[in-house]
Amino acid sequence: MSKPPQALKAAIPFFLLTCYLGAEQQEPLERDYHVKPVTFNHVHVEDAFWTPRLETNHKVTLPYTFGQCEDTGRLANFEIAAGLRSGEFEGIHFNDSDVYKIMEGAAYSLQENPDGLMRLYLNQLIRIMAAAQWEDGYLFTFYSVPARQPEKRWTNIQTIHEQYCVGHMYEAAVAHYQVTGERTFLDVATKNADLICQIFNAEARTDPPGHQEIEIGLCKLYRATGDKKYLEQAKFFLDQRGKKGRRGRDGKGRLYGTYGQDHIPVVEQTRAVGHSVRAAYLYTGMADVAALTGDMAYVKAIDTIWKDVVDTKLYITGGIGAAGGHEGFGGHYELPNRTAYSETCASIANVLWNHRMFLMRGDAKYIDVLERTLYNAVLSGISMEGDRFFYPNVLESSGHSRSPWFPCACCPANVARFGPSVPGFVYAYRDQALYVNLFVGGNASIQTADNTVVLRQQTDYPWDGKVTIVVTPEKDARFVVKVRIPGWAQNQPVPSDLYRFLGEIPSEVSVRVNGQSVSTRLEKGYASIDRHWQKGDRIELVLPMPIRRVLSHGSVVTNRGKVALQRGPLVYCLEGHDNGGEVLDIYVPDDAPLKTAFRSDLLNGVMTITGPAKTAKRTLEGRIVPHAEKTFTAIPYYAWAHRGRSHMTVWPGRTPEGASPRPADTLTYISKTTASFVHASLEAIKDQSIPTSSRDTSARQLDFWPHKNVTEWLLFEWDSQHPISSVKVYWFDDTGSGVCRVHKSWRILYRNAQGRFEPVETDQAFSMAKDRFNRVAFESVRTDAIKIEIDLQREWAAGVQEVVIE
Ligand SMILES: [Zn+2]
Repeated sequence: MSKPPQALKAAIPFFLLTCYLGAEQQEPLERDYHVKPVTFNHVHVEDAFWTPRLETNHKVTLPYTFGQCEDTGRLANFEIAAGLRSGEFEGIHFNDSDVYKIMEGAAYSLQENPDGLMRLYLNQLIRIMAAAQWEDGYLFTFYSVPARQPEKRWTNIQTIHEQYCVGHMYEAAVAHYQVTGERTFLDVATKNADLICQIFNAEARTDPPGHQEIEIGLCKLYRATGDKKYLEQAKFFLDQRGKKGRRGRDGKGRLYGTYGQDHIPVVEQTRAVGHSVRAAYLYTGMADVAALTGDMAYVKAIDTIWKDVVDTKLYITGGIGAAGGHEGFGGHYELPNRTAYSETCASIANVLWNHRMFLMRGDAKYIDVLERTLYNAVLSGISMEGDRFFYPNVLESSGHSRSPWFPCACCPANVARFGPSVPGFVYAYRDQALYVNLFVGGNASIQTADNTVVLRQQTDYPWDGKVTIVVTPEKDARFVVKVRIPGWAQNQPVPSDLYRFLGEIPSEVSVRVNGQSVSTRLEKGYASIDRHWQKGDRIELVLPMPIRRVLSHGSVVTNRGKVALQRGPLVYCLEGHDNGGEVLDIYVPDDAPLKTAFRSDLLNGVMTITGPAKTAKRTLEGRIVPHAEKTFTAIPYYAWAHRGRSHMTVWPGRTPEGASPRPADTLTYISKTTASFVHASLEAIKDQSIPTSSRDTSARQLDFWPHKNVTEWLLFEWDSQHPISSVKVYWFDDTGSGVCRVHKSWRILYRNAQGRFEPVETDQAFSMAKDRFNRVAFESVRTDAIKIEIDLQREWAAGVQEVVIE
């Protein structure tokens, strides 16, 4: 297939293009969200921060990710399924979803860039997909290549993800229909959805998809077509989750467990658990179905789950998902920085979910979370050049770089589709009220029941908090303009006590209309301006943007003694490039005066934060003490990892103990360390970072997973002989979340003068207690090597957090 050229010439954006492109207006639905979004196709962005990003998405990310789909066989799978060529299936079983996601992004981008090439390319893809679709509507290349395998369809919906894939197809098809008014793709989608409705229903199979997404897609199909069966199908899938006695393919209906939010019925769920992308897509689908049916049981559940996330499971960057093992949520306040998962897809899902929560309630607190996630965790997921991607987005690093692609490419495909949808989050309306949620330059045309109002925003946000909004109603009339006053401008970084600013700053937010001051008394986070509006009325909003120090709730163990920096909606980080290489040893005392400087030469232009700081070091005795003075520079978190690998931290110390200086040159640290087998990190066992418990993974560990029932060893060697008389070990044991358990027994050996290992002499017990060091003192030996042997239990792996040899 021919690629769209990498450098498509930017078409001149036409604001009123909506009149030319676009689907005809649907009959209004019986019910939907109280607040209506002003959809992306009614918003034109003209903004120094966002316009270059939208252009990069269109000119680089979309062609690049489509190119990757061609190079990795994702498109060939469809071509083979369509009978256009022969070959074997390539890649992972759910790869179809990547193509659909990028198509969705491409469809959005046609709004501002209706250039022929992208449109032709999409049309070509849609023709291939229509040809790959089976007569009854089935479409999934994994079971269509090299030949159709009807006996395999829906045989493993827990992990093969046919429904997840077509859910993305429905979203893409609706986007294409919305923008072009053409039904070609929509027809493929509805034909498939009709088949899904036939196969999965109360009289037939009742097991739900392993990976949520189709629920969102079905709601969109319902909105686009008005056909209620799609809504009912979405509700049906939601209601089967966690339901005992359901019927799968074999008549049995085994639950998938917490990983897939399938442990209890969704309306009974109160906590965010399991895989975080699945979870946030589920909550988004529940919000959609609740809005479209009026079923309040879903609302009650997602309200409680939302509070669980915002109170205890949200990174300061707005990312979600603390643990890589199950790509999902950790426990309450479990927010490790170095091993953060914070998957890019999960951040996108978090934006989608919070947007729905806002549409349900008209409360700005949801947009506070959305904005935080958008400007920090989501933007970090893609390079500013548009062709490198993060899958996890860590908050502390000794060197990471974005990747050109992944075998499981969910994240690149997701940012490709999400980018051009951003204009759809800026405005909303309800009856006679217009909501200004995000501060993005450009204009929007808002169709209320009896009027059309154009809002034109001008701003240098997020660098500056001055925003001008010119209101131009078609007919002069009384209505309300609700301008969001962000939580960060009112001493509240998040709508919970998970994070707080150090020190209160009196709010100096000001709102004026035509030069006259307006009350900033807030209703649900909005300054509501209720007046008779005339063409050209001007709202001037000033959101002062002092640098704020952010502290975590005391229960977030990893952030004790640490501070983050925020200015406006942006979270900052310290990167080695600006700080002489090391940043993990830095601490920023509370009284250090900080200042900002805009650096147009740096990272496409960023506001930096600089100030005096100090460094800490570790002593041989294991204490962390002040070391030296240092001036530091912080950059916005989204801009990190653009200049090669380097150290980075979002949470520098606030005190010496809060810093994470490099290990001191202890005997253990300077040894050449090897192991019989390494999973996770060998370095972790001598990094002098002491875990809070045996199951703490935030400080990293060495484990022997998946080995069981064998003897493993650790070897510490030196160039010369040293007198050694004790070894202490902190064992790893992740009972409750993993398969490592404290082992059966262990020994300490040393290398004798003949070069052979022999056990040390001691009458002490080789203890194996959890959550502390286990120290064994022995008859002093002079040696150049210590070996620790560990006998694993029959059924369990084992691991080591930290070793100290003295
Ligand atoms: Zn992903």
